[in-house]
Amino acid sequence: GVTRLCLAVRQSVFSSRAASTVQIPTTKLFINNEFLESETEKWINVRNPATNEVISKVPESTTSEMEAAVAAAKAAFPAWSRSTILFRQQIMFRLRDQLIKNRARLRDSLVLEIGKTKEDADEEIGRCIQILEHCCSITTLQTGETLPDIAQDMNILTFRLPLGVTAGITPFNFPAMVPISIFSMSTVCGNTCVIKPSSCDPGAVMILMELCLKAGCPPGVVNVIHGRKEPVTFVCDHPDVVALSFVGSDEAGSYVYERGAKNGKRVQCNLGAKNHALVMPDANKERTLSSLISGSFGAAGQRCMALSTAIFVGDSKQWIPELVERSKTQKVTSGAEPGADFGPLISPEAKKRVCDLIQSGVDAGAKLLLDGRNIKVKGYENGNFLGPTILHRVYPTMECYTTEIYGPVLATMEVDTLDDAINIVRTNPYGNTTAIFTASGATARKYSMKCDVGMVGINVAIPFPINTFSFTGSKGSFKGDLRLAGKEAIQFFTQTRTVMEFWRE
Ligand code: NAD
Repeated sequence: GVTRLCLAVRQSVFSSRAASTVQIPTTKLFINNEFLESETEKWINVRNPATNEVISKVPESTTSEMEAAVAAAKAAFPAWSRSTILFRQQIMFRLRDQLIKNRARLRDSLVLEIGKTKEDADEEIGRCIQILEHCCSITTLQTGETLPDIAQDMNILTFRLPLGVTAGITPFNFPAMVPISIFSMSTVCGNTCVIKPSSCDPGAVMILMELCLKAGCPPGVVNVIHGRKEPVTFVCDHPDVVALSFVGSDEAGSYVYERGAKNGKRVQCNLGAKNHALVMPDANKERTLSSLISGSFGAAGQRCMALSTAIFVGDSKQWIPELVERSKTQKVTSGAEPGADFGPLISPEAKKRVCDLIQSGVDAGAKLLLDGRNIKVKGYENGNFLGPTILHRVYPTMECYTTEIYGPVLATMEVDTLDDAINIVRTNPYGNTTAIFTASGATARKYSMKCDVGMVGINVAIPFPINTFSFTGSKGSFKGDLRLAGKEAIQFFTQTRTVMEFWRE
């Protein structure tokens, strides 16, 4: 299955020209609607995380290539920003249609490059389609305000106008959805965009660029450069880039926030997380345990919304043995295999990092109720697999709690009351998402008002908002003001201009 996927994904997106003496496909740059081979000497291996086989190489873009991408976006801006909003809306309709036609191809790319299960990958593409459908409503989303007769024969109007060249820096875990949510919202508002995808899995973005071409997107409106830190620094410093959207880790995001803001840019940074699930004794046990398992182990825990800590309140702690037994039945294998519940971690380094954090928990006194570290996956012996792991009686001072784990690891805690649980969640520096499982509306309401977290699920493990709403992570999980998606994204990608007009007969 993996070999077939490899071949399918390599078709057309990658050049077959070798980057070195070995015949490994190379990922291209996308500048001015052209797929260009990089002239760099520095290449990064892209590996299938289920086998660690090198499947392609991605370039560290040269300075002149990055300059060319920003120049293309700058040159495209005047005409694109003055194109009619109906024209931009039509492109979004066509891009949506292209995505639907190419759904299977994109899904295969995600399975191959990041190890998602087919179902999980398909869900990501479904989200991409929803984002584009939301963009198709731009004629109502981008409206401003008007007030007639503020003086005699005088009206006041506020327009929402595009900014210029924007840049998106995106993580490995949603290699289609995060780039599309940035470049579609940015460009439909009339901006142009340069995307710097993760060097772990650039294939999905390259397919999206092909679809932008087919949808009739004019040259220079969306461009793609590659690399790790250098292109990030480049867009943070470039005077022609006016806004930066970042999604990724705390370290890289803090760098982008500080460097971008220092250079006078508008910046939104979505960062790491530590998401708590509260389990109340009155919850529906069956549904709660299923939600905990899918919310913490799904996508191998490589989601900023993964439930990484379960706080059992009162008698609900009696469900922990059943949680452990049910977790053992998770099928861990390549996402390409039928029936897989979750796949590998993105890299051997990521696996080592997670294993070290598990050990730090054990060394600090947590009890390992389920240890996934020695898992053997038949047929994928070289993959970065880690089985479901449950660390019991974790305390807020332990490193495995204070650090984002980003793996299929659930930490459990036991407290006596709802207030004790709220106190733990409020004290945590992160605030991306949280869930409470309960049959009581009053308990749920109290929690959602007091938890101090950006997104709250009530009997919902992962409360990922539909795109008409913003993605509202808070506290240490977000730096900036205006968020991704929803109304806030329109505000982020536009500036207001207020016009007072006086017309007398
Ligand atoms: P990452 O920070 O390593 O990479 C994100 C982007 O920054 C990539 O394009 C990468 O090439 C670049 N980058 C890497 N190191 C850099 C550096 N030192 N300086 C500047 N840029 C750098 O993140 P990742 O491993 O790809 O993704 C996982 C992280 O992303 C997790 O912490 C997760 O919580 C977070 N994430 C957050 C959200 C959210 O909405 N809050 C969503 C998805 C992922």
